[in-house]
Amino acid sequence: MADTATHGSQGSSNPWQGEILSSDRPYRMLIDGEFVEGEAGETLACEYPFTGETWGSFPVATVGDVDRAVRAARKAFDNGWSRTTASHRAALLRRLADLLEGTADDIARLEIHQNGKTLAETSFEVPYSQMVAHYSAGLIEADHGHTVNSMLPDVVAYTVREPLGVVVTITPWNGPLGSLAQKLFPALAAGNTVVVKPSEVTPAETLWLGEKIMEAGFPAGVVNIVNGPGATVGRALVAHPLVEHVSFTGSTATGLEIAQVCAARAATSSMELGGKSPNIVFDSADLDRAISGVMTGIFSASGQSCAAGSRILVQDSIGDDFFEALATRIRALRLGDPLDPATQISPVASRAQLAKVLGYIELAQKEGATTLVGGGRASAPGLTEGFFVEPTIFTGVTNDATVSREEIFGPVGAVIRFKDEDDAVRIANDTQYGLAAGIWTENVALAHRMTKRVHAGLVWVNNYRLGELVIPWGGYGATGGSREMGIEALRDYQGTKAIYIDLGSPLPF
Ligand code: NAD
Repeated sequence: MADTATHGSQGSSNPWQGEILSSDRPYRMLIDGEFVEGEAGETLACEYPFTGETWGSFPVATVGDVDRAVRAARKAFDNGWSRTTASHRAALLRRLADLLEGTADDIARLEIHQNGKTLAETSFEVPYSQMVAHYSAGLIEADHGHTVNSMLPDVVAYTVREPLGVVVTITPWNGPLGSLAQKLFPALAAGNTVVVKPSEVTPAETLWLGEKIMEAGFPAGVVNIVNGPGATVGRALVAHPLVEHVSFTGSTATGLEIAQVCAARAATSSMELGGKSPNIVFDSADLDRAISGVMTGIFSASGQSCAAGSRILVQDSIGDDFFEALATRIRALRLGDPLDPATQISPVASRAQLAKVLGYIELAQKEGATTLVGGGRASAPGLTEGFFVEPTIFTGVTNDATVSREEIFGPVGAVIRFKDEDDAVRIANDTQYGLAAGIWTENVALAHRMTKRVHAGLVWVNNYRLGELVIPWGGYGATGGSREMGIEALRDYQGTKAIYIDLGSPLPF
């Protein structure tokens, strides 16, 4: 591995300067328009994944804070927000997008100091969030119900779409601002009020966004932000009787628990959960490009992507040259300081994630997998304090191995060989998940057949991990079944009301 660490910020407990990013900067939760500490005064710190140093102080909510946040949201909904015009809400979202202008670099650095992702990954969070705000504004302005040709004489019937009430958004640490924007902005556009809970691993951008939201002019209580662990703050939110809908992105285990709690009191939920996605290389592929595609699939964001191409399906007829070339390319990857634009592989997000990924590597080795490349914690000088995992590829595994079945969420891929198209389809679809699939071939007919036969919500041909907000994102099975963004982005946050106007038809009594 070309472990080239540079150390611009290592060893400093104040890793940034600048207005947004001073380590003295106070971070507060947002409840009913007020920036507040948790009522018990409890705080959590973050760990910088590159150095392992702790920094910052982030308030933690109590169950009482959660209750106040939900009640504030309900009051704001009832007191007028739900009756504002679509164009008013759209204007506020556009103003918010404008206020984010010029913050992308600082926010990228802020995110890096929480989840350790590279500059290339994190620099897009603010521009993407701005686009989501504009897109959500446009969607609600263009949204409409239906008038129908009533089958009854003397009746006019039509539908309107209306907000649900209090929506809770719960987000993970691997894309804190973007995954929040995908939920929060459509929910607000649709006229809901919202209580937001970021991951306790990455709360900073969300708490910062709260300030921008108030500056943009959203009324008190329309957006509330509480921080803290899922087991306490998350659970209290999900169980709150005034919450109408929970929009969740995170692990399948947590998502299933939340969906059950919601269903038990007939609240709705939308779920963006895990994956174990196949990235399928046929012998008809441009093999050099396919190697880039395999690496993009599993090493982007150090594998901490729900759509990671963690099962690498390679056709038997492709010779060993492919694996030699793949290993050579992987060994040349630059591990290092996430703040260095040349870094390709940065640490995983937390000490806990490091332990989890290393545990899976050990298990794969115990189960008999062959290590093509990587296979442990990075040990080069400058990397040992950080949560670095070597980019790792296992060969000689079947689709039944643990490394092929469980989401690892780290830079660890398993190569599974297949015979022909039918075999590839059988293996690709033999998973509890159904989020994404990559298909590498220059054979157009094969590509089209595979797009139909693979059971996944996202399919890429000769690319991996493309995503844009005009196209829905989500998957089948244990990935949760929901879709975010695309033209349907508002629908999770709206109910449909049917309205009948009688023009004088006889009544039965
Ligand atoms: P996680 O499930 O541990 O936590 C996600 C969020 O849920 C956090 O905010 C956490 O505090 C909260 N939480 C935890 N337990 C809770 C509970 N009992 N009740 C309420 N809230 C609770 O997931 P993570 O480790 O933060 O994120 C990684 C996971 O997210 C991976 O499985 C990944 O595939 C998934 N993910 C999915 C998508 C997608 O679009 N499908 C996108 C990003 C991440």
